[in-house]
Amino acid sequence: MPELAEVDYFRKQWNPGLGTSIRRVQTHPAARIFRDSPAVAIERGLAGRCFLGSAAHGKQMLFEFSGGAWLGLHLGMSGELRTAPCDHVPAKHDHLVFVLDSLSLVFSDYRMFGRVSLDITEDGLAPSWWRELPPQPADAGFTKTRVRDFMRRFPKTPLKTLLLDQRGFPGIGNWMADEICWQLRIPPQTPSGTLDDLSLEAVWKMTRRVSREALRVIGTDWGELPDSWLMNHRWRDGGICPRRGCKSELVRDDLRGRTTCWCPSCQGG
Ligand SMILES: [Zn+2]
Repeated sequence: MPELAEVDYFRKQWNPGLGTSIRRVQTHPAARIFRDSPAVAIERGLAGRCFLGSAAHGKQMLFEFSGGAWLGLHLGMSGELRTAPCDHVPAKHDHLVFVLDSLSLVFSDYRMFGRVSLDITEDGLAPSWWRELPPQPADAGFTKTRVRDFMRRFPKTPLKTLLLDQRGFPGIGNWMADEICWQLRIPPQTPSGTLDDLSLEAVWKMTRRVSREALRVIGTDWGELPDSWLMNHRWRDGGICPRRGCKSELVRDDLRGRTTCWCPSCQGG
């Protein structure tokens, strides 16, 4: 599932269309991605408008069009954005295609957990749902006090599970949450209420560090994170802990419904 860095990577895939107008909108109207705004509303609302800009916030994206029109987009589990030639014939999973003068912008999603929504604002400002999103790890508002206070509200929740809570940690998903726990050497099952102030500060700092690095490496050109991270070793059974001097076999197990990977030596638990 795309997390903040993958989301930012996909957002930028539509950049070649910036500054040009939508000639035609092609949709699969029955696709579940239109459950918030019907396809016909998006077709009528955006045709003829110029694509002005975009932003990512956690797992959410917002695309700005002329005349105060805004397309919210969430990739869900399997959504992808790409460009295609103008004469692109939408494939089976290409549920939303904007045909511009010299290329097409394509949103494809085979599992259809993704979604789009249209807002047209009178004041031209981004829609209120966007402005009210909680600060993401790279923002100035993502302070250690905010993180500590958020975590104190859920003392019984395992650290890993809390890191997945988009109200506190927008954009953090399964691999990043495992990475943060592993780099901190804290078992992912640790109830957050048992962490002292110093540990909570470390969680805040590591969340920022992992987010920043993921955005730099994956968000720029889908590069490879260093092999010294858990990321490249967590996907299959029998993976080996990459920490220098450890070499224990990693454990993969369910934690509150999510596959979780950790090192029994470095992290215990
Ligand atoms: Zn280890």
